[in-house]
Amino acid sequence: SEAESVRVAVRVRPFNQREKDHGAKLIIDMQGQLTTIKNPETPSEEPKKFSFDFSYWSHDGFTERADGVLEPTAGSKYASQPIVFKDLGQGVLDNAFEGYNCSLFAYGQTGSGKSYSMVGYGNNKGIVPMTCDKLFQAVNNNSDPNKRFEVSFSMLEIYNEQVRDLLSKDKPKGGLPVRQNPKMGFFYVQGLKRAPVGSYEDIEAQIDKGTANRTVASTNMNATSSRAHTVVTITFDQIIKDPTGQEKKKSSEMNLVDLAGSERAESTGATGDRLKEGANINKSLSALGNVISALADLSMGKKKVMVPYRDSVLTKLLQNALGGNSKTIMIAALSPADINYDETLSTLRYADRAKKIKNKAVINENPMD
Ligand code: ADP
Ligand code: MG
Repeated sequence: SEAESVRVAVRVRPFNQREKDHGAKLIIDMQGQLTTIKNPETPSEEPKKFSFDFSYWSHDGFTERADGVLEPTAGSKYASQPIVFKDLGQGVLDNAFEGYNCSLFAYGQTGSGKSYSMVGYGNNKGIVPMTCDKLFQAVNNNSDPNKRFEVSFSMLEIYNEQVRDLLSKDKPKGGLPVRQNPKMGFFYVQGLKRAPVGSYEDIEAQIDKGTANRTVASTNMNATSSRAHTVVTITFDQIIKDPTGQEKKKSSEMNLVDLAGSERAESTGATGDRLKEGANINKSLSALGNVISALADLSMGKKKVMVPYRDSVLTKLLQNALGGNSKTIMIAALSPADINYDETLSTLRYADRAKKIKNKAVINENPMD
């Protein structure tokens, strides 16, 4: 199979109330695949330019329906949830049916719109629920008697470099252990619950359960912000019987990752325990940054590059998603406001590096034993 680049999308959200109250200025612009950012302190300077596979303008040009759904006004370039799903989620789904592993992760500072894109709020459902919905529509429409499906769901949180199973009420001290498969080399979470799911409603119930179990701590940035990384994994198996009666299994693992806020601890005014969390979150995110840089170097032809997957729990678990057997998409969430210039620029630079990563996804197909 051919090496394929990680696809990168950026999305800019509307001003929030706080930004409106402070008379925030818009510093992001998007034209086609081009995204530009203006430094509010040097307004006469040429804006910095970035180019991504997808640039989603969700800043303005929408109206809110009575049921809360945000829709583009006529002629506007507003990227709604269904548009983002069509580009990103539909591809994940198609690849899953072909038997590829897929990963989608959302990066950005707290309040920039990661969870909005990944999970969504109210009737503005994000990529995860829409993908699950379409997955079961396709499964339920299957009329081939020689094909059956098995779907399972897991949801975990990485908080302070410890793994918590969000489908379980148990909170083992120190979290669940992350182990390495001695033969295959990949890392996994020992004892993580994998719930079999048979319908979209099943998955929705599991998502709600997992969301309720999440660790939520408040910082100055955003009272309900999650300071943890959330990883949803959907395992999708297709068992296919060939004309001789021999069964084979096509498996796909979909990893959907809502990363913790990328802002540096000092900018949130955190102290004490919160500061320790910040440091650990930075450990996982900076490890992710180092892995991305190393992979970018590798794909540029540099030799003898060590990819430091082992430096954090997050990078261990994302090893396949990054530089491995997976088709991967990163969505970088952007604040539109001048006050967030430094963080937004660093998000754009992070996303720019991620574009250089190349993966080699293979179809996971094996005879049944
Ligand atoms: P994060 O997960 O990065 O901390 P959220 O996804 O919770 O941020 O978004 C912060 C706020 O901005 C939420 O109130 C959300 O509804 C709003 N928001 C984010 N992205 C969009 C968007 N594309 N369109 C409309 N509102 C958005
Ligand atoms: Mg969030």
